[in-house]
This record gives sequence, structure tokens and C-alpha cells, in this order.
Amino acid sequence: EQSNPNEPEFMQAVTEVAETVIPFIEKNEKYQNKMLLERMVEPERTILFRVPWIDDNGDIQVNKGYRVEYNSAIGPYKGGLRFHPSVNLSILKFLGFEQVFKNSLTTLPMGGGKGGSNFNPKGKSDNEVMRFCQSFMTELAKHIGPNTDVPAGDIGVGGREIGYMFGQYKRLRNEFTGVLTGKGRSYGGSLIRPEATGYGNVYFAKNMLETKGESFKGKTVVISGSGNVAQFAAQKAMEFGGKVVTFSDSSGFIYDSEGIDEEKLAFVMELKNEQRGRIKEYVDKYAGAEYHEGKRPWSIKCDIALPCATQNELDADEAKTLIDNGCMCVGEGANMPSTPEAIEVFQKAKILFSPGKASNAGGVATSGLEMSQNSLRLNWTAQEVDEKLHTIMNDIHAACVKYGKDGDGYVDYVKGANIAGFVKVAEAMMAQGVV
Ligand code: NDP
Repeated sequence: EQSNPNEPEFMQAVTEVAETVIPFIEKNEKYQNKMLLERMVEPERTILFRVPWIDDNGDIQVNKGYRVEYNSAIGPYKGGLRFHPSVNLSILKFLGFEQVFKNSLTTLPMGGGKGGSNFNPKGKSDNEVMRFCQSFMTELAKHIGPNTDVPAGDIGVGGREIGYMFGQYKRLRNEFTGVLTGKGRSYGGSLIRPEATGYGNVYFAKNMLETKGESFKGKTVVISGSGNVAQFAAQKAMEFGGKVVTFSDSSGFIYDSEGIDEEKLAFVMELKNEQRGRIKEYVDKYAGAEYHEGKRPWSIKCDIALPCATQNELDADEAKTLIDNGCMCVGEGANMPSTPEAIEVFQKAKILFSPGKASNAGGVATSGLEMSQNSLRLNWTAQEVDEKLHTIMNDIHAACVKYGKDGDGYVDYVKGANIAGFVKVAEAMMAQGVV
């Protein structure tokens, strides 16, 4: 804490890993006295930079730019860029640290990193977003490359932003390479990448449910967020027979007791992705639905909860409400959406609970598949990519069960994910000496 002041999110992420990995190290001599976890906690490199740009009024604006290159033991740094006013070093260090374990879990050769800016894309024109992205990439380009560090999207960074950044990188380097993932289809993007995080989360939840002889069929599903991850989690949950009843954004949530169907989901996608509107507009179109201003959706009775918005969006009281309402499964689509106290509530009640670093790993895994396709200079079909994604999620689930199953048969997916993620990185670091 002394060496990382004012970094609560980072402390939270490290504490969760340390609590599960330290007892494992204590039981396994070969990982001892090598300062493995201590080295993993320290990013290999942290880059902080100025991002100046000119707004539509001709005024100069300035934002903070970051890239945290966390760990390259098993592959090039890999992880998203987040554009949100709340972005700071604590948040990016927590995300980068988690990314190292997550990428290890995917079984693909990717190290961990994360970056972004406190830039707020909301309310900005396309031209302003483009000028910001170009300025951001002008500095970032000096530090990344297809064999060094391959960023992707995250909150506030979707296809539009990746396109502008890719264009600027190509112009600066005079090189067409797979330096970013989440690219558009016309210039090297992979099919199923937009869907991957949400689909992967539902594939993982399906695996968890199967351990109890359960499935999505006929279950009520509560989802938070209405961005990339939330939209495709909803789509796959519906396809598996679940009844999705909520979406949210940072202003509030909508509850549609009749269930959100494909047509209503298409409306949400158009609203959020094209018009960049607010989720409350849902009730203008579908009068039977309710809008709850300033609230989160966890009070709605459900069987399955999929938090897909942001960190610390589900606290202990909300966790208790979910349990009291009969919720049997919580699958994190976002990174660290449940507070440590909420996780404790879920695990005490012995319900199915998966941490984001396991259940949202489908996004980065499919980014890894995009990198492979770019290197091979060919494109796989949607079916091929989806099958690979599905297999990877099954493998991550199996790894969590292997390392997380307690004596009484309860699977602690937090412990399982942390240890399984740790082992591969630790082996690589030990083999490479003190670096
Ligand atoms: P988007 O920007 O597409 O959507 C984010 C959603 O979360 C929006 O509905 C947004 O509402 C809401 N949100 C953001 N910040 C807050 C906040 N402070 N409080 C309440 N709601 C908020 O991002 P993604 O869907 O890509 O990301 C969602 C989560 O999933 C993040 O935790 C991200 O790190 C994680 N993730 C994403 C991956 C990906 O492939 N995209 C991969 C793995 C994890 P509003 O419109 O009001 O901002």
C-alpha cells in the first residue's frame, strides 16, 4: 500500500489474487523463494503521455494517455484501451494485472497490458474523436507493434476508435500489420470478435450451470450495461432459451418483464452503437417496460445475473438481494464488477460465481485468433472462430475446476482462475531467469 498510494482498485485486484495464490505457492516448493508474485505485481513498463487535440470550436484540449505494459513472459503485451473520464493509473494497473492471468488462461501466447485515456467520448463529434485518436496514437505508436504490444478496445473504444487509431499507426509506420485487434472486417478484423466477450461469458455460465444439471432454458437473466459485452451476452443468453429482462447504463436501468427479444435487442444495438443514445429511450419505444433512474438492476428477481458494465458495480447488499431472490449463477462479463464483499456473499451461499478474468476471457482469446489470422494473412469463417472460442471457454472452465474444486465439491472459480493463470506465467518466468 505504501509503494502504491491512492490505488484502491489495483490493491483490490492484487489482494484477490494474493489470497488464493500465496497458499498455493506455500504448498508447492518449486514456486518458492523466486519472488514470482512480487515480480508479477510490478508492471514491466508504464508509459504516461500528453494527448493534445483541437475540438470543433478550434480550442485546444489536453488529456492524459497511458499504456501499462505489464508482463511479457508468455507473449507480446496484449490488452484493451479504455477511454472514460474515470481512467487513472490505479484502474489501468488493476486491469493490466488481471489481464496477465486472463491471457494465460486462454492458452494462447499473449502477455498482459492495458492502456487508455481520461478522454470522454460522450457528446464528442466523429471528427473530435478522430483527432483525439490520431493524437493518442501519434505517441502510442512509438511503444507498440505486432510483436511487442497489441492493444484492443474496452469501455469507450469500439470499432470506430480502433479504425481511427489503426489508420494513424499505418500512416506513421508505413506498415500494414495486426498492431490492433477489434479491427473492422474490411481491414483485417476477425469475424465473431465483436460478439466474443459476451458470447464467451454465456458459454462459461452454461458450463457452470451444467455442473448442477441446469441450463439457460426458461431462466430469467438480469444483465447490467448496454455496451458491447452486455449486448452479445444478451443475444447468446436468449439463443440458449433464457429470458433477458434488463439493460443499464451509467444513468439507470430498464426492466422489461416480458423479456427482451431479438427485435428489441436490435433496437438497443442501434440506439447505443449508432445513435449513441441513453438506455432510458428504451421505454419511449416499448411502453410496457420500466426505467429506474440512478439505479442498478440487481433488485430484479432472477435466476442468472451477468454484470457487464464496469468495476465495483455490485456490492454486498445487492449480492444478498440476488441470493434472497433465488439467483443461482453470477457470471462476470465486466472486469471486477463484484466487490470483494459481494464475492464473499456469493461464495458463502455456494452459488455458481465466475470472476471476469475467467468468464470474459473470450474477448481477448478471439483477439488472439485475430492476430493469428493477420499473421497467416487469411480469414477464418464465423463458424470456425466461434467453435475455437467455444473450445477455449470450455478449457478455461475445466482449468478453473481443476484448481478450484474444494473438498466438499464446491468449485471456487476465483481460486481456480488465479492459480491456473499463475502457473503458466510462473513457469515461463522461471525459465527465463531473473528478468
Ligand atoms: P462499452 O463502452 O461498450 O459499454 C460499457 C457499458 O457499461 C455502457 O453501458 C456504459 O454506460 C456502462 N458503464 C461504463 N462505465 C460505467 C460506470 N462507471 N457506471 C455504470 N455504468 C457504466 O464497454 P464494453 O462493453 O466493452 O465493456 C464492459 C466491461 O467489460 C468493462 O468492464 C470491460 O473492461 C469489460 N471487458 C470488455 C471486453 C471487450 O471485449 N469489449 C473484454 C473483456 C472485458 P454508459 O453508456 O452510460 O457509459
